[in-house]
Amino acid sequence: MLDAPLKRTPKGLFIGGKWVPAARTFPDLNPSDNSLYADMPDASRSDMTRAIEAAHAAYPAWAALTFDQRAQTLLKVAEVWERRKEEFIHAVMHEGGGWYGKGVFEAGFVAGIFRTAAALCYQSVGEVLPSADHKVSMAMRVPVGVVGVISPWNMPGILTSRGYAAALAAGNAVVLKPSEDTPYSGGLYHAEVLEEAGVPPGVFNVVTCSRESVSEVGDELIEHPLVKAISFTGSTAVGRHIAAKCGAHLKKCCVELGGKDSMIVLEDADLDKAAQAANFGCFMHQGQVCMSTEKLLVHESVYQPFMQKFIDRAAKLRTGPVSDKGNHIGPLVNTRQAKRVAALIEDAKAKGATVAHGGRYWDNFVEPTVLTNVTSSMNIWNDETFGPVVAVSSFRTEAEAIALNNDTEYGLTAAIWTADEQRALRMAGLLETGMVHVNDQNINDEPVVPFGGVKASGVGRYGGRWSLEAFTELRWITLERGGRHYPPGF
Ligand code: NAD
Repeated sequence: MLDAPLKRTPKGLFIGGKWVPAARTFPDLNPSDNSLYADMPDASRSDMTRAIEAAHAAYPAWAALTFDQRAQTLLKVAEVWERRKEEFIHAVMHEGGGWYGKGVFEAGFVAGIFRTAAALCYQSVGEVLPSADHKVSMAMRVPVGVVGVISPWNMPGILTSRGYAAALAAGNAVVLKPSEDTPYSGGLYHAEVLEEAGVPPGVFNVVTCSRESVSEVGDELIEHPLVKAISFTGSTAVGRHIAAKCGAHLKKCCVELGGKDSMIVLEDADLDKAAQAANFGCFMHQGQVCMSTEKLLVHESVYQPFMQKFIDRAAKLRTGPVSDKGNHIGPLVNTRQAKRVAALIEDAKAKGATVAHGGRYWDNFVEPTVLTNVTSSMNIWNDETFGPVVAVSSFRTEAEAIALNNDTEYGLTAAIWTADEQRALRMAGLLETGMVHVNDQNINDEPVVPFGGVKASGVGRYGGRWSLEAFTELRWITLERGGRHYPPGF
């Protein structure tokens, strides 16, 4: 079943528990050959309004369920997701252009996100506060109501489910707008799973639309007064725009954005392990992960042996269509992205960078590419590449490595390779990122950790109890029991 790319026929938008056709469709392409994967519903602003109203109508009954009932439903979602995971893997390969192994990993991870969300249903705890008036004074967590979720294409299983699972656990209803590059694996497929698992109609709605319609449909999701919070994962440019709009409408928002992540290889690192980790961190899923290793910072004393080992490994990666499972490096998600990455390589070459490995590109493919002699005047040093290209730089001192790591507007993850954990901990305190991994590469996530970045990499945290903070309000409630005195005259 996994070997034959299928053309999909979507059932429609998913609104109020029903599959509803849109007036128009848009082409959803298979990036391995730009063939048509599906004609997807291209929603209008009024489709989005209907989805928001359906979510609003369904929210009170969902919020009123016991935590146990919500948890049982989310466990059922995990069960259905696991049973159908081969379908997801197939979709994410042929709609998203991901290598088979990435699909297997992603499918497994998502089931964990739903199980963690089920556990969160039991953890919406508040606090009892001291009161000068001897009241019973409490801070309680309450759902916000309707949460709008906007998700990216690069991990359409993980990043979409991470955006909404905790919101559902907290008792909210959701309207999801997936990426126009993965409207099925990041959107309507989720609707099929949640419908089959028995999530009540209207609690989860999916509205797909084309790039041409996204500004209008997205605006409705952010501006509609019934939507109380936005959960966004995507680029910094769009995230800034969305956070600003949320600010103008005084809405909560959690935005997880881009990265320009470094891996630092110190002189006492295990070079074999570091080279293998770098090969994965730089090139897995064509470098299209927000946490991909985009800058490799190597101590000058181990630069030559490390680079030899790293390039030897990179040379074994095969690039080509994902229908051949031997290809670890598939296409970039679309022609626009492939051209953007090629332009970054050309800009670096024109400004004096050396292509130490790779450098070729064709159709939507870019082979694993290692650039050395990179300077900060090159776009590749500053811009998020989101492609299988790494910029390598050497350093002499710890302080230099920290400065090179921090020389970016982004702040998502950093990685440090050293035999000295004390030294790594000391350095971790000085790196301007939301996450630091010692003796591993940058791509790490678990459903129970506070995942998120600083600087232009985002605001807010996903995962575990931190997700509850993103998708609930704190309400202060007091019980006056006769001790309160008012000024004389009142
Ligand atoms: P993108 O910003 O182009 O799109 C993200 C989502 O925003 C899509 O659903 C898109 O349709 C929607 N969108 C675009 N314009 C909009 C508008 N005007 N109003 C409402 N919605 C709008 O990002 P992408 O290309 O899908 O994803 C890649 C980016 O996401 C990279 O920068 C990557 O680093 C980032 N990312 C971050 C994380 C993280 O956790 N920090 C994880 C994955 C990806």
